[in-house]
Order: sequence, then structure tokens, then C-alpha cells
Amino acid sequence: MQGAAPGSVQSMQSFGHVIAGRWQPPVSGGMIESIDPATGEVWCRIARGDAADAAAAVSAARAAFDDGWGTSSPSARADALSSIADVLDARWEELVESEVRDNGKRITEVRAQFRSLSGWYRHFAREASRISAHPLENATPGIESEASYEPFGVVLAVTPWNSPLMIAAWKLGPALAAGNTVVVKPSEHASVSTLRFAELLGATRLPAGAVNVVTGYGHEVGEALVRDARVAKVSFTGSDFGGSRVAAAAAAGVKPVTLELGGKSPQLVFADADLQSAVNGVLSGIFLSNGQTCVAGSRAIVEEAILGPFLDSLLERVRALRIGDPMSEATDIGPLANAPHLEKVLAMIERARVEGARCLAGGRRARVEAKPGGLFVEPTVFADVTPAMQLWREEVFGPVLAVTSFRGEAEALALANDSAYGLAAGVWTSDPQRARRLAAGICAGTVYVNHYRSVDPGAPIGGCKRSGYGRELGPDAVKDYQQVKSVWIGTRPVADPFAAR
Ligand code: NAD
Repeated sequence: MQGAAPGSVQSMQSFGHVIAGRWQPPVSGGMIESIDPATGEVWCRIARGDAADAAAAVSAARAAFDDGWGTSSPSARADALSSIADVLDARWEELVESEVRDNGKRITEVRAQFRSLSGWYRHFAREASRISAHPLENATPGIESEASYEPFGVVLAVTPWNSPLMIAAWKLGPALAAGNTVVVKPSEHASVSTLRFAELLGATRLPAGAVNVVTGYGHEVGEALVRDARVAKVSFTGSDFGGSRVAAAAAAGVKPVTLELGGKSPQLVFADADLQSAVNGVLSGIFLSNGQTCVAGSRAIVEEAILGPFLDSLLERVRALRIGDPMSEATDIGPLANAPHLEKVLAMIERARVEGARCLAGGRRARVEAKPGGLFVEPTVFADVTPAMQLWREEVFGPVLAVTSFRGEAEALALANDSAYGLAAGVWTSDPQRARRLAAGICAGTVYVNHYRSVDPGAPIGGCKRSGYGRELGPDAVKDYQQVKSVWIGTRPVADPFAAR
């Protein structure tokens, strides 16, 4: 890594972009204050990028592509990806604090995510080494043909604030494996861990400029990046609102887009389920990461016969959750990630009450004595939530569970599918036939049976309906970042097409 290190102004750090392996100040000089949600106070500043910074980053990415990365061998790419994994294994702990301070995620969860970051890069190193052209069937006489898998060139990766580095890995791993170079645009609410990660890349065998990070607002630098004619492919993770804006801008340039968007994922709990497992699964689905995960299981749909015992067990656990400092390992529920988000979550709680849902736990802003300015909300459970209510229809992206009951499998399935989203679903039952029927009937990119919330490089993730299109991870992850080319090779002399017959 060359260039000036992040500056320190009155003990507050300021971060530029990372372009071509160097720290670069924003061309306009504009900066954004980043809030620590545990205190509500500014903890650092990041560059407020604009079209000029976007152009510089894309130039650097294109130059790295043309200078050899785009034609590098699969084994060279595998080697570079392995070197990223090696550096992460040695230094992941350096990245933890910046993410906790940026988005308020509990240190326990950030540590778990970062400890396994290297695994994603090792997986895609293996995938890179498997890339090869392969022969095609072709019935035309005298022709041999093959499919060759080529990179797009410069890929734009737009990431959200909830798990910036893990989601970046899901994009960088396959994009680099395929031979693309990348510009990452992290969220304006949580950019620092991605910048620090980009700084670490200087210690790897990846060429400078293969990964660049530009920070700023989505409607400013983000949209400028999408519109840059040299960006050939966009991978976006975020809200359905942001995703539809990105897709529209990309459509103007006829660019392929992968969209990983929000959800309102149902958890169906049947009377024949192991109740304790189901309660644990629902609890982890909505209250781990404070509900700020795309696959949050935010609608619990419970068979009427067991609604009472289910709620008793769940509420006992919810009321015992400890709200506090995300830097403490004793904390179960940290702050929400930013102030506008806190306001949105509190407004949705209020509207649920007005619309007639019954608040059984939480339902208020929480005060933590040691962190008076922190953006905390009590873990909240509403019962009697109906499909007409906002709490049923819209993503909260916070620690708020909507509970309703059903009678019979058909009603459970209808309720599960009564949503504009289709990201994930959980099914809790001891009947394997029922589990299969529901897995087939639920409209979602992922269905978990007697389990919830895991991710694995081998399993694709993505959504149906407003949850987006395209898939990340899984066996085709690298293909999403490749263009296939048919190469036709003639093996016989070509006849004169106008020769007299
Ligand atoms: P967001 O849409 O506000 O922002 C996501 C990113 O897009 C940010 O970097 C933002 O700056 C950028 N952006 C916004 N508008 C843009 C535009 N017009 N052009 C270019 N870039 C733009 O989302 P968020 O609040 O950061 O994240 C929360 C959302 O992300 C939730 O809806 C959540 O469900 C979703 N999410 C989905 C997944 C998934 O895998 N499906 C994973 C995590 C989060």
C-alpha cells in the first residue's frame, strides 16, 4: 500500500478512497461523518466521492485488467486469492473494531464472521483453478467448437452496511476468480472495514488496481459508477429501493445486474416440531444481528395448537436478552446501525400498535446507562399481526418479530407466500413429507428445514420477487461474473458459396 495513510485530525481518523493501491483524497475534498451507533457520536470521516472519484477508480480497475489480470491464468488468480486468505488469517483481528464502531454489530458476531473470511477466498481460489474452456457439441460438418469463459472487465460491487466485509467477499471472490477487476462501493454508513481490508491487499499477490474502494452516497458516487460506460457488470446488495434504482441506471447502459435485496422471511412452526429447536431458530432468525440481516425470519407463523407454549418459551428468552455495548461479549442486543434507521424502526413499531397488533415484549427505544446516546431498541414481539398490516408487509430490518397463527398446512403455505418478498423461509416440523411439500411450495430463494440462517459457499443465495434476481455463492457463483464465448473452428476447406450447382 502506497500513499498517505489515513489522516488523523484531532485524534479523529479521516479515510480517503483506495484507488490503484493508494489512499486517495476525494477530488472535491468533501467528507462524510461516520457515527458510532453505540454512542451516537462521530467517530471518523470518510470521503464523499463523486463522479470524478468514480472515474478515477474505474480507470485504475480497467488499467489493472488490461495490464494482465484479465488474461492471467486461472492458477495465477487462484494463487492471488489464496494470498488474500493468508493475509486475512494473519490479520483479520485488525479489522474487527472498525466494523463494530461503524455499524454497531456485536463484537462476538463480527469476530465469528471475520475469523472465517479467509474461507470464502480459499473457496474461490479453488473455483478459479477449475476454470477452463470445454468442447461443445456441434452438428455442423467440419466444425469443432468450444465454450470459453471470459471475464467482463470491470465489475462494480455495491454493498450494504450490515455485513460489509462478508458480502464483499461473496462478490470479490468469484469476480476475481473469473479474471475481472473490481470497484467496491461500500455503504456510507459502514465503509471503514472495507477500506482497511483494501489496505491489507497491498500485502497480497493481487496486483494494485485489481480491487479499488470508493466511498460516498449511493445517489452520488454509486450512481456515477453504475453509469460509467467502462463498468461492464454490477453486483448489488441492499434495499429493494436502491436495487431498483441501480437496475434502472444499469439498463440504460445495457449492463447485467445481480440484485440481492431485502426480505420478510416467514418461519413456519408446526405442532409436530421440536418446540425448543423451533424457538431457538426463531430467536436466532430475528434477534441475532439485531434483526439487521437480509434473511431475518421476521414473520413467525405458528400452528394454533401450540401458539401458547411457543410464545411462553419465546418471550421468556426475549425478556432475558441483554441490551448493551456491542464491544462487550456479554451483550446480546447492540444498537441499530444509524439514526435514520432507528427512527424508521420506532415508527414501524408505533404503526403496528395503531393498526391493532398486540405488543408482547419490548416496543420501545432502550436506554443503556453507560451509552446514553446509543441507538438501542428493545427486542420486540407483536402477536395478532395480520397480512393487512405494515408489519406483515414491509421489511423492518430490526429486532421486531411479527407473530400470527394458522390452522392446517394449506393456510400456513398461503400465509408464507403472502408477501412481496421471497428471500428465505424456515419450516419447523418432524414430518419429512410435509417439509418437502413446503420447500417446493414456498416462493423463496432459500428454504431452511429444522434449521435457520446459515450460509455456505456451496449453497446459492438470492431471492424471488422483490428480493431480487441472480444468485451468489453455490456452484455457479463464478459463472455470474463470466461471459461465455462460442469459438467455432473450421477443419475443412471452405467451399465457394456462389459456385454453380
Ligand atoms: P441501501 O439500498 O440503502 O444501500 C445499499 C448500498 O447501495 C449502499 O452502498 C448505498 O450507498 C448504495 N446505493 C443506494 N442507492 C444507490 C444508487 N441509486 N446507485 C448506486 N448505489 C446506491 O441498503 P442498506 O440500508 O445499506 O442495507 C439494508 C438492505 O440491504 C436491507 O433491505 C437488507 O435486506 C438488504 N440486504 C440484502 C442482502 C441479501 O443478500 N439479499 C444482504 C444484506 C442486506
